[in-house]
Amino acid sequence: MTQPIISYFGQSCFLLEFESTKILIDPGNKKLGKIEADIVYSTHSHFDHASGINEFLDFNKESAIFISNKEVTKKYTEWGSRVKTIEDGTQLNIGELTLEFIYARHGIFKGELNLGIVISTPTFKFGHVGDGVSFQGFRKKKLDILAVPISGLFAASPNRVLQELPSFEEPLPTIIPMHWLFRSPKKFCKKLSKEFPQIKCIVPKKEEIVSY
Ligand SMILES: [Zn+2]
Repeated sequence: MTQPIISYFGQSCFLLEFESTKILIDPGNKKLGKIEADIVYSTHSHFDHASGINEFLDFNKESAIFISNKEVTKKYTEWGSRVKTIEDGTQLNIGELTLEFIYARHGIFKGELNLGIVISTPTFKFGHVGDGVSFQGFRKKKLDILAVPISGLFAASPNRVLQELPSFEEPLPTIIPMHWLFRSPKKFCKKLSKEFPQIKCIVPKKEEIVSY
């Protein structure tokens, strides 16, 4: 099974292209909705994670779907069966992929329902925590790559991420910092490499394929 092509589009937006399925995560503007994919997923309702959904459903083929939690999907009922509502712990099998949705507490908006995602094939696992500050539900997953926010305030800060990492039960090979806002992802990776030299830290470039 080949690994996906992963592209980064700024903030928390990634496109994962597997052989049979393309999945877009957290499109933060209308332009990002016009990316060709089979699935779009939003971790929570904030505009920087859930804009461009109407554009996505309009632009992509009829079989393309939108997945999110009930706080987000309630705004898109006009799209009928193309909208799937999931909750913490839901697992979906779509083609070769298994999608799992995992609660991760949002930063300052503690009431905001933020569900991260783990996308797996039998040989590869990618995790994305949305705006999470606590990655508890991800600790037992044997992830190949974990995308984490580093902005602080709304989401985890660089220090918060470093505090979370020792509690992972399985070794974490690769981290991708996202949701930078005013933080420097390069500085974060430097710090991470010092404390956890076994973890590869990749600063993704906007609108480019991530080499991992
Ligand atoms: Zn955000």
